[in-house]
Amino acid sequence: MDTQVIDASSFAGDVIDPRHAGYEKLRMVWNGLHDRRPDLILQPRNAADVQAAIRLAVDRGLPLAVRGGGHSLPGFSTCDKGMVLDLSRLNHVEIDPAKHLAEVGGGALLGDLDRAGSPFGLVTPAGVVSHTGVGGLTLGGGMGWLSRRFGMTVDNLIAVEICLADGTLLTVDADTHPDLFWALRGGGGNFGVVTRFRFRMHPLGRVCVGAWDYDIRQISTALKKYRDLAALAPRQVTTSFAATRDKFSITAFASDGLAPAEIEAFGQLANSAQGGITGMSFLELQSRADDHVAWGRRYYTKGGFFAELSDAAIETIADSVGRTPSPDVEVYALQLGGAVKDIDEAATAYAGRAAEFYWIANAMWNDPAEDKACMAWGRETARRLALHSATTNYVNEQSDSGIAQSAYGAEKFARLTAIKRRYDPMNVFRLNQNITP
Ligand SMILES: Cc1cc2nc3c(=O)[nH]c(=O)nc-3n(C[C@H](O)[C@H](O)[C@H](O)COP(=O)(O)OP(=O)(O)OC[C@H]3O[C@@H](n4cnc5c(N)ncnc54)[C@H](O)[C@@H]3O)c2cc1C
Repeated sequence: MDTQVIDASSFAGDVIDPRHAGYEKLRMVWNGLHDRRPDLILQPRNAADVQAAIRLAVDRGLPLAVRGGGHSLPGFSTCDKGMVLDLSRLNHVEIDPAKHLAEVGGGALLGDLDRAGSPFGLVTPAGVVSHTGVGGLTLGGGMGWLSRRFGMTVDNLIAVEICLADGTLLTVDADTHPDLFWALRGGGGNFGVVTRFRFRMHPLGRVCVGAWDYDIRQISTALKKYRDLAALAPRQVTTSFAATRDKFSITAFASDGLAPAEIEAFGQLANSAQGGITGMSFLELQSRADDHVAWGRRYYTKGGFFAELSDAAIETIADSVGRTPSPDVEVYALQLGGAVKDIDEAATAYAGRAAEFYWIANAMWNDPAEDKACMAWGRETARRLALHSATTNYVNEQSDSGIAQSAYGAEKFARLTAIKRRYDPMNVFRLNQNITP
């Protein structure tokens, strides 16, 4: 694909064009399926650089891809031709341990946030892989090991600094531009570039992690027992499961000083589990899957919310993992509920408060020859699991674009559209689960 040379002298940050030695590396995103060649990659060092970059893209009519951690499954944070606004240098994190606050740059990774809070024993609930971007994850909602105890990432968002399509820089919170603040808590990157997030933090307390693998032939029995146990778990306990064609795995995480006895039963779901209580710290848990879901592998993922884990859903999971085309292809689910349900569904744009679990049909593989089979498995498994799922969805864990209307539901989508019209009428920010103005 040909690229053009664009004059970016109005931009004071780092400019990487196809002639730059770092271009081939910097044009890559996490999902190896997306091999695109932008004309220009701009790396801002501060909010003023972000303003200049947006003005440049708008003046030149360039497609604009905004990149936080680069983890977008559909590859929204890159483009052919056009400009990538790579926020990776805006990765500062400052903790105020007395006030339990974190100020986080728009391009920080989850690992940056977790590591900064760790010396103070403070956390903000976010996701489960440390190389994921705070930016994309937060704007879609943000769920992980701490959501049942402290809510979604957006429930802990106090304020943002955002650069709009016309280059204006705004501070937005519950009292200032409240409609935009509502939309930013789940509406994705549709409204501008967030240069700074302010989060509430919480004392974590002592943690305990248990991890067990079961023979895949025991999946139905184990999942039914798991469901019943998970329903009784206090909100300081969160569990997840993953099933491939070879094994069925459970992880149980407890914080707030809970005893290992609170999670040991997840190791007794069926005969002869391998594993047990680990000595993992919270930081180790947060990076445990980093290498497995490494940059550059090929990924196709679709997900949905279970209000409950029905027998029919369990049988569908068991059947689907028996048909996977590649060893790392899996069905994964994270337990929700708890503090996520405490917040009224209408309070934020995120559209999954009632769910007990978020599941993904998660195909990952390395060989392009497997693309067709892995993607077909992901589509078919998600289609079957959707029959047992809520009609709304989580915009952040979907490989297919164009799903915003169905994911938010009619009412929220209408409200988001009205806000989009006000803040980005020309749809400058359209490489996302787009809310067309
Ligand atoms: C390996 C992996 C693990 C994951 N685990 C979890 C999990 O545990 N919990 C969970 O909730 N989600 C999880 N996700 C989904 C994740 O939330 C989304 O992929 C999210 O979009 C990633 O954000 P990013 O900044 O890394 O991605 P990017 O590709 O950089 O950005 C994604 C979208 O957000 C926009 N964006 C990013 N930063 C900004 C910003 N500062 N301002 C405005 N727009 C911005 C981009 O333009 C793009 O549209 C995971 C994804 C992956 C690939």
